[in-house]
Amino acid sequence: MKTAILGGGLTGLTLARFLAGKGEEIAVLEAESEIGGLCRSRSENGFCFDTGGSHIIFSRDEEVLRFMLAVLGENHAMRKRNTRIFYKDRFLKYPFENGLSGLPKEDLFFCLHEYIRMLIAAEKGEIPPVKNFRDWIYSTFGQGIAECYLIPYNRKIWNYPPEQMSAHWVEGRVPRPPVEDIIRSAIGIETEGYTHQAVFSYPRKGGIEALVRAIAAPVIDRVFCGFPVRRIRKSSTGWEISDGNRTIYAGKLISTIPLQNLIPALEEVPELVRQAVDSLRYNSVCSVFIGVKGRVPDISWLYVPSMEIGLLNRVSFPSNYSTEVAPEGHGSVLAEITYNEGDPLTLMSDGEIVRHVINSLETMGLIRKEDVTYTGTARHRFAYVVYDLEYLTNIGIVRKYCEEIGVDLVGRFAQFEYLNMDGCIRSVMEYTGKVQ
Ligand SMILES: Cc1cc2nc3c(=O)[nH]c(=O)nc-3n(C[C@H](O)[C@H](O)[C@H](O)COP(=O)(O)OP(=O)(O)OC[C@H]3O[C@@H](n4cnc5c(N)ncnc54)[C@H](O)[C@@H]3O)c2cc1C
Repeated sequence: MKTAILGGGLTGLTLARFLAGKGEEIAVLEAESEIGGLCRSRSENGFCFDTGGSHIIFSRDEEVLRFMLAVLGENHAMRKRNTRIFYKDRFLKYPFENGLSGLPKEDLFFCLHEYIRMLIAAEKGEIPPVKNFRDWIYSTFGQGIAECYLIPYNRKIWNYPPEQMSAHWVEGRVPRPPVEDIIRSAIGIETEGYTHQAVFSYPRKGGIEALVRAIAAPVIDRVFCGFPVRRIRKSSTGWEISDGNRTIYAGKLISTIPLQNLIPALEEVPELVRQAVDSLRYNSVCSVFIGVKGRVPDISWLYVPSMEIGLLNRVSFPSNYSTEVAPEGHGSVLAEITYNEGDPLTLMSDGEIVRHVINSLETMGLIRKEDVTYTGTARHRFAYVVYDLEYLTNIGIVRKYCEEIGVDLVGRFAQFEYLNMDGCIRSVMEYTGKVQ
């Protein structure tokens, strides 16, 4: 009997490809009129922008990276990362702890002194147990790096206070930077951080959507767009899945759609499970596209921790990833703003948001207003999973329920984990590896 895959984003399409390769009969049900989810790209006026924020291809997972590059074939280019942090009118090297020598002297002293104080405290066993993400930042990097960069930046991107976030997802995984590297970075000897990302790839043509399209190619006739799953009923033979008009029957159900869309579609869900899903936190992203005459700075992407500069948390320059995503003689800029329903951004018109972003970009000296030839915006409701302090309890309740009723969860908002594209593909590989 057929397997229904809910959601035609990267995860759903990769699942479809792998399961079809094993001879399974599959159907992918996608709510939107186009496939791709967060990995969609918009081509207009010679520009191509990723709608779910700027995406690059990188991974520590060599098998997954090989897979992504192999499906793209010739359609990808490699780039060396030149990433910066905008701090007090300077473009610091990224990660922050590798760019300390670029700081104003007083800030450099603050960061270095506090890092060493923290290290001594750690060696003496004087650091209290970490209770939240904020504690973890302070006890890993010291008060200086925390207060100059990590706290303001994390508050901005998660749109949530770090002291109300859990640390389970970084603890033990992100090590304290070695003291040698901190000293080298402080006195201006080059050091590199996050080296698995130092070189990255990007499709030459078609934006990041080219990747999902290439993955979907062998199974595209099994994808049904414009099918927003609204009702799911378990029958004696399997599942009845409906968009309110049409019903599809399947023996097996795999969900890659957000839990916030899956659970309300199911029948007789216990109140405890509904409440747990309602309590899971996430944020949304608004992508702002700017096309300019002439060149853009030679930066891959730029983090903007300060609220004074504006709402944007990150700015990327897609025309530096591929010359084919902007018309000849033009450059492109993509700004990302994370938000939640009810925030000031939700009261702004698209025109106001674009003007706000252009002002921020001008303030940082990245573009000139008079060079702007194209603007656009896109929003995705589900952008980042936010690990709040109740996350582990709530997700535990929801996962247990889905397992009991036999709905398999794969992907970023189905597993409700901070998974990048490589993490989603790894989840698919692990899942399909278990399928007989
Ligand atoms: C700002 C930003 C930048 C990122 N940058 C990178 C990067 O540089 N590199 C990287 O590797 N990863 C990056 N990611 C992560 C990457 O986008 C995700 O890991 C990946 O796209 C998740 O794919 P998915 O299929 O699990 O989820 P989604 O892309 O969310 O797909 C879910 C699909 O389900 C559909 N759907 C929802 N509800 C229903 C319903 N009721 N019925 C039917 N269909 C439904 C949606 O329309 C969507 O197509 C970034 C993410 C963000 C937000």
